Amino acid sequence: MRIGFIGLGSMGAGMARNIARAGFALTVNDLRRESAEALLAEGAAWAATPAEVAAASDVVITSLPAPRHVEQVALGADGLVAGLAPGCYWVDMSTSVPSVADKVRDAVAGRGAHIVDAPVSGMSAGARDATLQIFVGATAEQFAALLPVLRSMGDPDRILHVGPAGAGYAVKLMINLLWFSQLVATAEVLAIGARAGVDLGVLRSSLLASPANSTFLERDVMSVLEHGDYDEGFAIALACKDLGLAVDLARDLNVPAELSALVEQIYRRARAAYGDAAGEMSPVRLYEDIIGG
Ligand code: NAD
Repeated sequence: MRIGFIGLGSMGAGMARNIARAGFALTVNDLRRESAEALLAEGAAWAATPAEVAAASDVVITSLPAPRHVEQVALGADGLVAGLAPGCYWVDMSTSVPSVADKVRDAVAGRGAHIVDAPVSGMSAGARDATLQIFVGATAEQFAALLPVLRSMGDPDRILHVGPAGAGYAVKLMINLLWFSQLVATAEVLAIGARAGVDLGVLRSSLLASPANSTFLERDVMSVLEHGDYDEGFAIALACKDLGLAVDLARDLNVPAELSALVEQIYRRARAAYGDAAGEMSPVRLYEDIIGG
């Protein structure tokens, strides 16, 4: 199977390297050629446009920042859709929305090709170590055909077929929405408890032993509170993008999402306060600033 990869950033570079190491022939493209240099030195081929990547591949994978980049790469004379041959696949592993794929679905089908969404969780370390969790929106046949290449990037036990086209995007956005909502809710609860004079360690153990327990409380909260690791992990700019996409999806589907919209605003406030380089934990810092450290 010949694989094409477009978007060699924090996630894509590691994913593409693991595909090549698994023995697949690899053709790559990125707006910035320098991001491909290491892969080219290891034997990958360069293609000047997304259409050329598609023409050289049985499966083209994209890992791009946001829906508008996915649309840019897909459409136009040099777009990847124009290069897809019958029977080939385009697998979008970006965190995006079903509406972008819907726009090109007919054009892809018209070329006799397949389009599949397969966004990921696991950060750049997961991309580097091939331990990503992958949420695949596809038919059973498409999923089976893609498993060998998906296994080269992800944890085999966490490559999930979550439903038909679009379901992968939706599941990924809902996971991030719940995670960010938990983070904000937990920060608010801890701030109120601290102001009420409760020791934070005692409050946390009480919460851990209660039905209100969460992964955030179990795993992350103390490193944030004790060491101020606000900038670990996911960048707040990406968190704001994902929250915006989740709120837009709810709006498109006519689902009232007041709480999600509020969480998005709190994230935007933290981004404005601490900058784009701040991390996903920064809303905790907002509350600490309010109650005084
Ligand atoms: P990134 O910004 O580091 O990389 C994106 C790459 O796409 C860049 O190299 C950029 O040059 C390239 N690109 C942009 N437009 C292009 C175009 N028109 N043609 C060719 N290349 C183009 O982003 P990332 O952190 O690697 O994230 C990629 C996707 O994965 C995003 O949708 C993100 O939400 C998702 N994601 C990221 C993480 C993370 O921890 N970084 C975790 C899970 C999911």
